[in-house]
Amino acid sequence: MNQEFKNFISDYDNVIQMFYQTNDGLIVTNSNREIIFANPAFEKMTGYTMEELHLRNPNYLSSGNTEKHIYEEMWSNIKDHGSWSGELVNRKKNGELIYSYTTITQINENKEHDSFYIGAVRDMTDQREAEQKLDYLAHYDLLTNLPNRTKFKEILTTKLKDAEHHNRFALLFLDLDRFKLINDTLGHHAGDILLKDFGNRLRYIFGEKNIVSRFGGDEFLILLEDGSTEKKVIQYIEQFFRYQRENPIFIEKREYYITASVGISFYPDHGIHSDILIQNADTAMYSSKDEGKNNFHFFHDSIKENAFKQLVLGNHLRLALEKCQFDVHYQLMVNTNTMKPYGLEALIRWNHPVKGVLGPNEFLHEAEELGLIVEMDYFVMKKAIEQLKQWNEKGYNDMVISINVSKKQFDDAEFASRVIHIINNTGINPHQVSLEITENYALNDVDDALEKLIALKNKGVRIALDDFGIGYSSLSQLIQFPIDTVKIDKAFLKNIEGEELGKDVALVKAIVQMAKQLGFSVICEGVEKESQLLFVKEQGSDIAQGYFFNKPLPAREVEQLFDICNECPV
Ligand code: C2E
Ligand code: CA
Ligand code: CA
Repeated sequence: MNQEFKNFISDYDNVIQMFYQTNDGLIVTNSNREIIFANPAFEKMTGYTMEELHLRNPNYLSSGNTEKHIYEEMWSNIKDHGSWSGELVNRKKNGELIYSYTTITQINENKEHDSFYIGAVRDMTDQREAEQKLDYLAHYDLLTNLPNRTKFKEILTTKLKDAEHHNRFALLFLDLDRFKLINDTLGHHAGDILLKDFGNRLRYIFGEKNIVSRFGGDEFLILLEDGSTEKKVIQYIEQFFRYQRENPIFIEKREYYITASVGISFYPDHGIHSDILIQNADTAMYSSKDEGKNNFHFFHDSIKENAFKQLVLGNHLRLALEKCQFDVHYQLMVNTNTMKPYGLEALIRWNHPVKGVLGPNEFLHEAEELGLIVEMDYFVMKKAIEQLKQWNEKGYNDMVISINVSKKQFDDAEFASRVIHIINNTGINPHQVSLEITENYALNDVDDALEKLIALKNKGVRIALDDFGIGYSSLSQLIQFPIDTVKIDKAFLKNIEGEELGKDVALVKAIVQMAKQLGFSVICEGVEKESQLLFVKEQGSDIAQGYFFNKPLPAREVEQLFDICNECPV
């Protein structure tokens, strides 16, 4: 120590001034660890006056939030080295916490009974709170206040690392059903209310024992600590589903019943790493979606195989489009009075290089999911209309070509103009083109659907309502749409066998009669037998379609039927 400083410090007033004016809190205790001095900064920091602290042990300020081992470390360091520095969490007089960086130094350490302890306390509360806030933002979802993806993975990884932990446990992957619909139709604010409410419900049902997290978007993950058996998992899920059924959520004063699809994986059965467990629960969740949602599924290996098959199929579909492996087959629609061809329905086929000719049931769903269906639909439309032109040129010139329109294609903003463009390019009469749509195409946006249909109708294009009878709307509701034809679904003819009159017979009768009264022409699909043909004819169906006439065939082969059909004896 240099002489100048020695002089400075030997002046009692200087030392006192230093103690009183520093911004850090300072306290001094005697060898009994009783506070004998606290400076104004310490008084300000803690809210206690020197009088209140006098002769108290500093642990008077402890909050109970500093872990015990830190105190043990503190005293052993002071004993061995004469000082200690570290973080302590104390409590102010008003009850608030103070996070401090504290240095304790023992003075006169050789004479234990005569020693003093000086504590220099720096208030780190603001900094600590800011850190905690940042930590919260990084690990919790602000909307639901649930642990987020990062936090959940941390928890799961720690749990899996725990070498002593060999217990089986379940992971639940929940995905809200039709969340996008609510978000798109009612807006993001409604979506937020729904997610928040859903999070609260999960917390309520799954409770404290289990970890509920919002994994992202409308996906929630639950680590079921309290569920090591399938039975227990099912109990929880059923309890949750029941709660959802009985308690609708109110958004803008309307009730909504929200369902979810759930997938479950078990540790260690379905993986020992967090990513695999999550992925397998996710895959199982997709099985629930595929089976009509509002459902749950345990992961098993065959699901993985299916998912893999779908992945392969998806890639193959893209290639098949590039390599032009798709083709159109045609099925006759026959006028039941004249027995002449009324027209043909165009049906897509995939000429698979290994598996042969595949029908739409094998790939259309996948094409829709992958967004490839629109391209396929326009391909079929162009090909079928060009084919019709060729038939016109060969003299078969009063037939209608009926083309299936997918929901995605119909939703294309340019749909009407693209159809009209294709028809104009070939130069055929638009009246020869019929578009098959189904009733649910207008569900979301009636005005948009009407606008498109009227634009097409004004150009002379026909509109047919496909698969009628298996949906929800009644014919009278459909009258506002410019429909020409109703195609009665083949399901109705299944049970009609000659004399056998069942419920379906009455239904077909009623539908045909009503459709005719409303001015629609009627096509009955799925006519496989002569008896069915006679039946539909009797009911007044103008047109019949089915295996009785032909299975869908390539253009060349179906053409051979045109003349035979003209001579049909029925
Ligand atoms: P859909 O529009 O109802 O077409 C009629 C389906 O019934 C065809 O199946 C046809 O082969 C089948 N069928 C015809 N007559 C009979 C019969 O007498 N008995 C039975 N049991 N079935 C009969 P396909 O070709 O497998 O097509 C299935 C569905 O795929 C179609 O049902 C249609 O919804 C869709 N689809 C076909 N081609 C296309 C397309 O180009 N675009 C779109 N978006 N969908 C298509
Ligand atoms: Ca159809
Ligand atoms: Ca149909």
